[in-house]
Amino acid sequence: MRSERVAVAELLTPPWAQEECDHLRVSDSTPDPAALSDTCLACVESGQNPVALRLCLTCGHVGCCDSSEGKHATAHHELTNHPVIRSFEAGESWRWCYIDEVLT
Ligand SMILES: [Zn+2]
Ligand SMILES: [Zn+2]
Ligand SMILES: [Zn+2]
Repeated sequence: MRSERVAVAELLTPPWAQEECDHLRVSDSTPDPAALSDTCLACVESGQNPVALRLCLTCGHVGCCDSSEGKHATAHHELTNHPVIRSFEAGESWRWCYIDEVLT
C-alpha cells in the first residue's frame, strides 16, 4: 500500500515544478536591484542599437538581448556568471535563468 501512495504523489507533481531552479527561487525572495542604466551602455560605447533590453537581477546591469548585435546581456552573464535576467521592456516581466535555461 505504501509504495502505491508514493507513485500517486509523483504523478501529482506538475512538470513545471520539477524545472524550477534555485536561482529563480532566490530571485523570488529578494527585491529586484535598481537598474544601473536605462539602456545598454556597451551598445552606446560601440555605437550599436539594442533591439530589446534585459536587466540582470543580481547586480542591476542592463544589457541587450540575443537578437541585438552585441548580445551584451548574455556577454554580462558569461563574464560574471550572474544567473538570472528579467525583461527590461515595458509590459514584459518574464525572467530567464541562463544556468538552468528556465523561463518563468
Ligand atoms: Zn537557475
Ligand atoms: Zn548591447
Ligand atoms: Zn549582473
